[in-house]
Order: sequence, then structure tokens, then C-alpha cells
Amino acid sequence: MVDVVVIGAGQAGLATGYYLAREGLSFAILDNNEEPGGAWRHGWQSLRAFSPASWTSLPGWMMSGGQEKFPTRDEVVEYLGAYEERYKLPVYRTVRVESVRRRRSSRGEEMIVEARTGSSSIKIPARAVVSATGTWSNPFIPDYPGRQSFRGEQLHSAHYRSPEPFAGKRVLVVGGGNSGAQILAEVSKVASARWVTLEEPNFLPDDVDGRVLFERATERYRARLEGLPEPPAGGLRDVVMVPPVKEARDRGALRSVRPFERFTETGVVWPGGSEERIDAVIWCSGFRPALGHLEPLGVVGEEGRVELEEYGAGTRSVVEPQLWLVGYGEWTGYASATVIGVGRTARSTVREIEQVLTGEAYRDGRPPERLIGRA
Ligand code: FAD
Repeated sequence: MVDVVVIGAGQAGLATGYYLAREGLSFAILDNNEEPGGAWRHGWQSLRAFSPASWTSLPGWMMSGGQEKFPTRDEVVEYLGAYEERYKLPVYRTVRVESVRRRRSSRGEEMIVEARTGSSSIKIPARAVVSATGTWSNPFIPDYPGRQSFRGEQLHSAHYRSPEPFAGKRVLVVGGGNSGAQILAEVSKVASARWVTLEEPNFLPDDVDGRVLFERATERYRARLEGLPEPPAGGLRDVVMVPPVKEARDRGALRSVRPFERFTETGVVWPGGSEERIDAVIWCSGFRPALGHLEPLGVVGEEGRVELEEYGAGTRSVVEPQLWLVGYGEWTGYASATVIGVGRTARSTVREIEQVLTGEAYRDGRPPERLIGRA
């Protein structure tokens, strides 16, 4: 029996582990990747963080590179691996969590985390569970008519590695966020590429980088703490003008068109009825939370999300009081899907767990005071 099982050892699971260790709680972090790095390990070859190193860091330890260097995918992976070691976080690989259930035992209500490692299955009882499984393993592809009958190649950005396989082909890149812009930028150098977006993408000014997304999230977070109206969301989908995207714009390749109507076997039909032959479609259409392991708890609702408490850390399940979720997006904490942002959510979540486990949180039958923002 441990106090807390954390599911997932990406940036969210590691930040949570950092604070659990500081609070002196017993815990285990289970991860089904063979090596450290979470989703970053699966990013495409040219992927770089859109904020400099000091803004791509987890609590306690700054990534080297300061304000000037935008870390590569491999540098982020290396940093996350070194972070695990530095803080001696108890990460167990390769362990796939298949389900989380609640049970009543002589110790009281507890969670049972059921997992597989190799051919063995294990059950770990815990007083609390933090789900930090990210979204990478649950890519989302919109349902365009005729998609199943299209005989060309279809690839989600989750599995895209480099532009070479598309050389000389007719390619559609679908999706108006940062993945779409960055993949279009490099594919358009070797292929005839069109960018398909629901609406005109929102480009950030050239002189700002991913830091502005975090700053906007911080403004909304402060407004919430002070009970003021929240500034508009903006969003992590706003395109950061990283150098390859600027270069594509200067070359005239960063133009987008609105969606086609349907697929044919060999291509697509555009509004107005014109047909075009297409060899490949790269779906940059985002992800959904990877929450299959929580299905037995009956907490996963619309759009694959879990309803969370509004007070406290804002990451605790309404239905299942021994379950918290960290790192999935704005709904689990402002900027919590960024390296720099998830530290704040992890800190308030662990503080709440500690209060719940020690019985401080609901002593008067009242919810705990708002925990976010307290240093
Ligand atoms: P993940 O990194 O996905 O980690 C989850 C871990 O849980 C994985 O190791 C996975 O194997 C494991 N897992 C999943 N299911 C199970 C299970 N059932 N059992 C056991 N283990 C499981 N963020 C930034 O801060 N800066 C950037 O510049 C930036 N650029 C980005 C660019 C792109 C194109 C994209 C798509 C994202 C970018 N992000 C950036 C966001 C960031 O990479 C992700 O949001 C982040 O990886 C999420 O971290 P996580 O820890 O929540 O999930």
C-alpha cells in the first residue's frame, strides 16, 4: 500500500512526483514507455520547444540553455530523464496501467491500480491516484465523409517523423495549430503541400514565443484567484512563429484553405465540386485525454474528460474523491500541458492530496480553501 500512485512519467507525472517527495508521502510512478521523456520521445525529428530552456523547466531544476536556447526534442527528453535521476523519483517501467478501481478493505476505502508488466499483472493499493497519462496515445482524427475509402496514405502527427517520405507527393496537412504549421513548413519544402484549416489560423506576433501562452494563462489564473472576470482564453493552438514557420511564410507556403467536403478513393472534393488527386493526408487534428484506464470508475464523461472540483486545486474528480488529474490541458489547470505550467498545478494538487490524506481538508465538513497560488 502506498499513499499515492501516479500514472504516467511524462512532465506532469514527474512534477507531481517532485512535490510528493517534498511532502514526504510514499508513492510510485508507473509508466508504459520503455524510456524516459513521455510524449517528447515520440515527437518528430525537428521538433523544438517553443519557449527557451528556462521556460521549459520543471520545478526545482532549470534546464540549461537560459533565455536564448530553444531546446530540441532530444534535449527535452534528456532533461526529463536526468530530472528523474536527480530527484531519485520512483519510476517503474515498463508498466501499463489497465484499470483503476475503488474497493473497501479493512483499511477503509482505497484505490486499486491494476497494471501489466511483461506477462505479469500486478495490483497496487493506494490511498490516492493521480492520473498523468497525457494525450499522445489518443490521437484524434475528425470524421470526414469517405475517409475509410481513401486509398492514399493517412498519418497522424503523433506518428509523423520527418518530411522525406513525402518527397514529390501531393499532401494535405489538416489542422491549424502548432503541429500543423510546423509540419506544413517542412513538408512544403519537398512536396506539393496544402494546409487545410477550419478557419484562418491565429498567428502570434513574430517577436513573441511560447512564453506568451504561459503569461496569458497566468493572467487568467490570477483573475480567477482574485474573483475578477477572466481575460479571453487565447490558447495553446495559437501558432508560435518559430524560425521554420517564419521561413515558410516568407516563401509563401503558409497559406491555408478551408476544408474539403469529402474524400474520394484517390483524393478529395473541394466546396464547389472540383476534385483533386491527393497522395497523403497528415492529420494535425490534436489529441484527446488518454483515460481508458479510468473507465471502470465511471468518471469519464463527454469529450473524454473527467468532471473536476472547482475549489481546491481544481484537479480532483467530483465523482471519485481519491482521484486527481494533472497535465491534460487548461481544464486540469492553467497552462498545465506545458513544461513550465505543470509545476504550478502539480504543487497545488499534491498539497490538496496531503491535506485530504491527513484529514485536514474536510475537518469541518467544508471544502479546503483555495490551494492554487499559495507558495
Ligand atoms: P506525456 O508526456 O504524454 O506523458 C504521459 C506518460 O504516461 C507517457 O510516458 C505515457 O507512456 C504514460 N502513459 C500513458 N498511458 C499510460 C498507462 N495506461 N499506463 C502507464 N503509463 C501510461 N509543451 C511545452 O511546454 N513547450 C513546448 O514547446 C511544447 N511544444 C509542443 C509542440 C507540439 C507540436 C505538441 C503536440 C506539444 C507541445 N507541448 C509543448 C506540449 C507537451 O509536449 C505535452 O503537452 C506534454 O508532453 C504532456 O505531458 P504529460 O506529462 O501530460 O503527458
